Amino acid sequence: MMNKGLLIVVSGPSGAGKGTICKQLLKVEPDVMLSVSATTRGPRVGEVEGANYYFLSKDEFEALIAKDEFLEYANVYGNYYGTPKKYVQEKTLQGKNVLLEIDIQGALQIKEKYPQGVFIFILPPSMKELRHRIITRGTETEAAIEQRFKCAFEEINYVRKYDYCVINDDVDTAVDKVKAIIKAEQCKITED
Ligand code: 5GP
Repeated sequence: MMNKGLLIVVSGPSGAGKGTICKQLLKVEPDVMLSVSATTRGPRVGEVEGANYYFLSKDEFEALIAKDEFLEYANVYGNYYGTPKKYVQEKTLQGKNVLLEIDIQGALQIKEKYPQGVFIFILPPSMKELRHRIITRGTETEAAIEQRFKCAFEEINYVRKYDYCVINDDVDTAVDKVKAIIKAEQCKITED
């Protein structure tokens, strides 16, 4: 009945604010560790290798796929993104809670393998607000903004595959909700 560490999966459309929520959660919850993903997309200004992502070439990424080193991986907006298996397994076995900020395709793969994971979907307060956030973030080209917005519309249909939905109207309130979800999950009675 004793739980190992939780596997916390956070997804949501681009611009819903999941990055900000996760960053803040990691600051206030020392028992939650971030799983750093690998990606073939180039680093954005200010992104640090090993902290934001492991930035790999396509060949390097595909070599890791061949060696079965990913817990899940997906092609998102034309680039590979994947969760290295080893870190997640080590930390959860040590009783640490591991946070994965990944897209829906990845979350669904994890759900197949680890249905006991905690699946949280972050929603923006409205589609109008979402569009505004994607545009004002200013990291994407106009074509990329349109693509992300279109994907966001489709992605929102997947909310029902998740265990929890948190609307990010206000970041502090949203973080409090995620903290409450984690607390509740830690008290849950499980079969193993
Ligand atoms: P970005 O390029 O904005 O950092 O991330 C684009 C999308 O890829 C986001 O939805 C993000 O959550 C997702 N993502 C980041 N890391 C991973 C990962 O390891 N696996 C999967 N499946 N998606 C990821």
